[in-house]
Amino acid sequence: MISRIDMRGSLPADLRDVLPRAELDVEAALEKVRPICEDVRHRGAAAVRELTATFDGVEIASTRVPAEALRDALAALDPRVRAALEESIRRARLVHRDQRRTDVTTQVVPGGTVTERWVPVDRVGLYVPGGRAVYPSSVVMNVVPAQEAGVGSLAVTSPAQKEFGGLPHPTILAACALLGVDEVYSVGGAQAVAMFAYGTEECEPVSMVTGPGNIFVAAAKRLLKGRIGIDSEAGPTEIAILADETADPVHVAADLISQAEHDVIAASVLVTTSPELADAVEKELPGQISATKHSERITEALSGRQSGIVLVSSIDDGLKVVDAYAAEHLEIQTADAAAVAARVRNAGAIFVGPYSPVSLGDYLAGSNHVLPTGGCACHSSGLSVQSFLRGIHVVDYTREALAGAAAHVSVLADAEDLPAHGAAIRARFDWRVPTETS
Ligand code: NAD
Repeated sequence: MISRIDMRGSLPADLRDVLPRAELDVEAALEKVRPICEDVRHRGAAAVRELTATFDGVEIASTRVPAEALRDALAALDPRVRAALEESIRRARLVHRDQRRTDVTTQVVPGGTVTERWVPVDRVGLYVPGGRAVYPSSVVMNVVPAQEAGVGSLAVTSPAQKEFGGLPHPTILAACALLGVDEVYSVGGAQAVAMFAYGTEECEPVSMVTGPGNIFVAAAKRLLKGRIGIDSEAGPTEIAILADETADPVHVAADLISQAEHDVIAASVLVTTSPELADAVEKELPGQISATKHSERITEALSGRQSGIVLVSSIDDGLKVVDAYAAEHLEIQTADAAAVAARVRNAGAIFVGPYSPVSLGDYLAGSNHVLPTGGCACHSSGLSVQSFLRGIHVVDYTREALAGAAAHVSVLADAEDLPAHGAAIRARFDWRVPTETS
């Protein structure tokens, strides 16, 4: 069912091209989302409501969720789900609070300082997916870092659900209420990103949109980037597992299945030095799949071209493969897993050893689950407090400190043929070029 690639001879030069990966054509989706975004830009909330009727199959009178719906959802929340969400929030707060930045002042010369001042984004829009599955956990993962960063105004949006009268799923509303978020919209897809970017009569525009979503959400974020800030493109989920003969095939199979459960285009990749482990995992998969609820979706994801088992001849080669793949989630299930994990360069998040499965990170490790996919982990990070902060350089020089820099500035300005730059310095010293001592 799951394909196998044998790289035990030597690793191919074009490693990234031959590894299993979904053909996610965000560029093609751009053409679909462009008219959606333009419609929202020109017609505002009316366009958002019509697009919701088209794509979510439900008529909504207003895009804004009323306050009593949030209160009711929290009151009706299963106490066990409430306790689990509260623990998830508590752990996420511990981790994200420690990510807060302190301003740093560097004295460059006597009388000349540069301070990096960390300032939160004023207003953000947080996307919580709700198409195939509902993700109250993504409410926690978006809201906690934004709150810990000190963002003053934050709004959450999630697709309108027909079965809940056009409101987002009640557990999503309850999670918002638990976190003290009172501005919530029942809008999904590209129209949600456009609503946040351009604003409507019912929603003030935001400066930044974060959160995971499907290809239309990713395409809208790419299209509107610049007008709004975005986090990474967090698309269909991926797990890679680097394992040797010490790994337990039951655990490995369960973890591959757990991420395939998200989406038919989710990717599950095992990279192993052990053909025996590969055989045992393949043998284990059918039994575990048939015993689980979403077996059809999982079977499609595992047999797709984006999933597979890669055989390598050494852990060193395995590390080269997982670095080239740059997985959203990477598990290390080898002997001396911490030492192997320390050598990984590219991954959204790393899960070390047999007792740190990705499912823990999805809900309760304290880490963030909004992570870069599609190989973006080679240049981007997951959502964190840092995502919501801007570092502003504050430059503060005295007359004497400026005098000490003036000659060098003039020389460099002349070298760039921008003499007015040098003149702006000389204007402060009766138009003479000060020397180091004047
Ligand atoms: P979603 O909320 O992202 O998308 C649903 C919306 O898509 C709908 O509201 C609808 O408006 C829009 N839509 C559907 N079909 C459309 C069409 N043909 N044209 C235009 N718009 C259309 O929910 P989803 O679809 O379930 O996707 C969620 C994704 O998020 C999954 O792929 C999941 O793996 C991923 N995810 C990723 C992370 C991460 O951190 N990377 C975390 C959680 C979930």
